[in-house]
Amino acid sequence: MTQISQDKFTPFEIIKIERISPRVFLLRFKLNENEGLNILPLSSIIIQIPPENEKDEPTLRYYTPTTSKNVKGYFELVIKEYSAGMMTKYISKLKVGDLVQIKGPYLIHEYTPNSKKEIGMIAGGTGFTPMLQVINAILNNKDDKTVIKMLFANKTSKDIPLKDYFDNLEDNNKKQFNISYIVDSSDSSWKGETGYITKDIIKKYMPSPKLQNEGFIYIVGPPKMIEIISGPKMSFTEQGPLSGFLKELGYKAENVFKF
Ligand SMILES: Cc1cc2nc3c(=O)[nH]c(=O)nc-3n(C[C@H](O)[C@H](O)[C@H](O)COP(=O)(O)OP(=O)(O)OC[C@H]3O[C@@H](n4cnc5c(N)ncnc54)[C@H](O)[C@@H]3O)c2cc1C
Repeated sequence: MTQISQDKFTPFEIIKIERISPRVFLLRFKLNENEGLNILPLSSIIIQIPPENEKDEPTLRYYTPTTSKNVKGYFELVIKEYSAGMMTKYISKLKVGDLVQIKGPYLIHEYTPNSKKEIGMIAGGTGFTPMLQVINAILNNKDDKTVIKMLFANKTSKDIPLKDYFDNLEDNNKKQFNISYIVDSSDSSWKGETGYITKDIIKKYMPSPKLQNEGFIYIVGPPKMIEIISGPKMSFTEQGPLSGFLKELGYKAENVFKF
């Protein structure tokens, strides 16, 4: 019986590995047939690379399951590979049938249905993973009327993970889910925005700061992107003051969460 625990690492078997963009892969882990991971939105798990010697420290990193609550029999992680990354180098060598040590889940931020009229999501690269949990939670709950506006930033159009999945979600939920894409560089066939995220782009695609407490912005992505748009996140547990583009546009710290 494979069941996730917050107290100890449990080995989970990989049953599928798929590259979904040049440097991003999806890993599927086996659960019991009728069981889902059943975690709250905005929760993450920890993977450990067991140390080779007892005296060494294990390598630990957080990842965010992308599978929605009603999926049974497996859960998935979407992970970006960094060539110099300790954990992602280890993960990129794993094969179907290998066991991975996982612990959790840990709630990073609480989401309450209908607590806001509009939620904006500014997501860079694999930063979309916690956002997908909230999107699934909202769109799978017919009583939750929250409108989601997502701005998804990637290097090029080829680097956008799960683009078909997101486009389908938008087509099937036109009144509630709106996604816009921005890439650093593009060719003439690209229909979205090009360049880095600016104040004008935020104004165009995010809920208005005039919504005050009825609006909310999640920002998640590379530290440089977070710093420019909202001011740096101080630490894992401390948000730090709001600054950057969001502050200049009139958003309030209590209506922004840096993931
Ligand atoms: C709560 C939480 C949830 C997360 N969920 C996910 C997830 O679902 N999917 C996912 O892919 N990652 C996720 N991460 C990031 C993940 O935990 C690791 O930090 C990441 O995989 C890099 O680990 P590493 O050991 O390979 O790299 P490290 O050895 O820690 O870093 C090596 C080098 O890689 C580069 N690097 C590492 N991380 C970043 C970054 N975020 N942006 C830019 N450069 C970077 C830097 O140049 C760094 O010097 C999450 C992090 C947190 C805190």
